[in-house]
Amino acid sequence: MFRRILIANRGEIAVRVMRACRELGVETVLVYSEADRNAQYLRMADETICIGPAPSAKSYLDIPKIISAAEIADVEAIHPGYGFLSENAHFAEVCHACNIRFIGPPPEAIASFGDKQRARAIAKVAGVPTVPGSTGILATEEEALRVAREIGFPVILKAVAGGGGRGMRVAHNEVSLVNGLHQARAEAEAAFKNSGVYLEKFIERPRHVEIQVLGDGGGNLLYLGERDCSLQRRHQKLVEEAPSPVLTPEIRRRMGEAAVAVCRQTNYENAGTVEFLVDRNGNFYFIEVNARIQVEHPVTEMVTGIDLVQEQIRIAAGERLRWKQSDIQMKGCAIECRINAEDPDANFRPTPGRVTAWMAPGGPGVRLDTHVAAGAEIPPNYDSLVAKLIVHRPTRREAIATMRRCLSEFHVEGISTTIPFHRKVFEHADFLSGEVDTGFVERYFATR
Ligand code: ADP
Repeated sequence: MFRRILIANRGEIAVRVMRACRELGVETVLVYSEADRNAQYLRMADETICIGPAPSAKSYLDIPKIISAAEIADVEAIHPGYGFLSENAHFAEVCHACNIRFIGPPPEAIASFGDKQRARAIAKVAGVPTVPGSTGILATEEEALRVAREIGFPVILKAVAGGGGRGMRVAHNEVSLVNGLHQARAEAEAAFKNSGVYLEKFIERPRHVEIQVLGDGGGNLLYLGERDCSLQRRHQKLVEEAPSPVLTPEIRRRMGEAAVAVCRQTNYENAGTVEFLVDRNGNFYFIEVNARIQVEHPVTEMVTGIDLVQEQIRIAAGERLRWKQSDIQMKGCAIECRINAEDPDANFRPTPGRVTAWMAPGGPGVRLDTHVAAGAEIPPNYDSLVAKLIVHRPTRREAIATMRRCLSEFHVEGISTTIPFHRKVFEHADFLSGEVDTGFVERYFATR
């Protein structure tokens, strides 16, 4: 096992990784930007190093600064968390070149899955169904029109380098497709410095169901069940649960095997998530792979009893998985609410500022992953996630009752949060009966 690792991230995921390290007996070195210099959670680290000013390009995304910090602090490995440099193949390569283990998949796997079209091609080779669409980057309007006529409208334009629900555009007819293509390219160039755009059939009212995968350096790959993340706003997840209310054991097994087959094409190692859309007839279609730990990983940890972050560190340190596929069981139901510093009554506008009161829920079956406490300053520079509230109960019905209790206990002052939004979700008849697709929020919570 490593003696000492650096955490190249901030907020709740930095806390999560530090917790895993402490339990493994690994020392932690945490980097931080000037915007985070007074953050209370910095105290959890064995050592902290300031890596620059607030803008992430000059701190959390600045590879030379992070590598220098790692060298000064004499760490053996870097955990990138999610976001920031976690899916940057170049960063993973630089780490290896500097003799520092990157806690994540090999750079080649990150690069392959970082390009969504390449990922689709890999899934096809693995015999896994993908959403019908173009086979490469769209070169011309004519090509976009030809593919769309072939597969039928509506279609969705997606950036090959896209992520975080950005760079997508639905087109219902030829005019909106041609306009959308130019806008999507410009947006993709601005957001991802890559104007490549492709198109897929837009699946109507799908569910988003993803499979957690773990692989070790000896070629063992396991699937750890699914997470249903259908409750989204603008393609961003707000509530996640395991198991999915709609999966049969048979579909779960097929999706799990499909996920492993996709990863096997790239000599995958460490944690990863294979994302699928599931249509109303139970057909599933591969959409992409996230080659990192995900925000919503705790629901899988709760139902499987496996500490995914500890496993990431063990795998990077060269340990082998201690389970066979048949050892992996899902027990009970886990649900996570993402609590963001956003005002649900003002179109989810971010609400940075000082948290003046913070009364967090607790009690049986409750887990709260957060870096925030009373007095915390939420900087405007980063994403707005302030806490993940996770419950784990024997049944979905009980999990919902516990979540409702927690949402009523949770009291925050100083900033607006999405807690009131979640309270409404957990009263909605369709959510209670498990009838959620990716359009649920837009349909019932229309905010302008
Ligand atoms: P990102 O990498 O930005 O998260 P994804 O490809 O994972 O993008 O898609 C995010 C979400 O966008 C999905 O969960 C789903 O809600 C929606 N989406 C993506 N592709 C399609 C599609 N072909 N049809 C319908 N919805 C889609």
